[in-house]
Amino acid sequence: MSWLPGESLGRRRSSDAVDDGDPDAPLVGVLALQGDVLEHVRALRAVGLRSSAVRTGEQLAEVVALVLPGGESTAISRLLGHGGLAEPLARRIADGMPVLGTCAGLILLSDELVGDEGLPRPGGLAIRTERNAYGGQRVSFDARFPVRGIGGEPVDAAFIRAPRVVSVLDPAVEVLAEVDGDPVVVQQGSLLAMTFHPEVTGDLRLHAHFAAMVLERVAR
Ligand code: GLN
Repeated sequence: MSWLPGESLGRRRSSDAVDDGDPDAPLVGVLALQGDVLEHVRALRAVGLRSSAVRTGEQLAEVVALVLPGGESTAISRLLGHGGLAEPLARRIADGMPVLGTCAGLILLSDELVGDEGLPRPGGLAIRTERNAYGGQRVSFDARFPVRGIGGEPVDAAFIRAPRVVSVLDPAVEVLAEVDGDPVVVQQGSLLAMTFHPEVTGDLRLHAHFAAMVLERVAR
């Protein structure tokens, strides 16, 4: 995995460029303040979407859907606050924009956090989440499990200093997969989130599921 730490807001890099794929494909942003941005840009393109990095409110306004990548949720939260993106992002989520949140992204979407430090985060998903819940030597692990609604073989997943969903706060949250009794993939309306990194194992079925959600949204 390549990490893109410490980027300054508004700086453009080559990965920002919208690719030349199907010009009619929906444009999906990847929040590019910190974390594993490029892997998601590539994964989205591989499932037939156009994709670009989002660091500013203007860039957010151009996309129909967004990925909140893994990384360090406290760093991403602070940068969201400094960049003035926290409020527009929360508004777009409330308006029903499809969002894929992975690992730190799931933390940002959580309505409640264990030991909440009050940093800006959009929320929207009715779950209570504990950061770095596996701690110690189990900081990173791989697991293989079936995901409801995703056909074929079980999904291979990389858990990297993963959070744990400690409770689901609303029946509107569907639990699509569990590991040891804990939800690891959840969906609530247009929000899809997982506690692991689907973009590092080369298994793009969760991105494809998200692409179907995006296409359904733009068809409305
Ligand atoms: N431990 C990180 C956090 O709390 C999340 C890890 C990840 O995204 N891989 O933000």
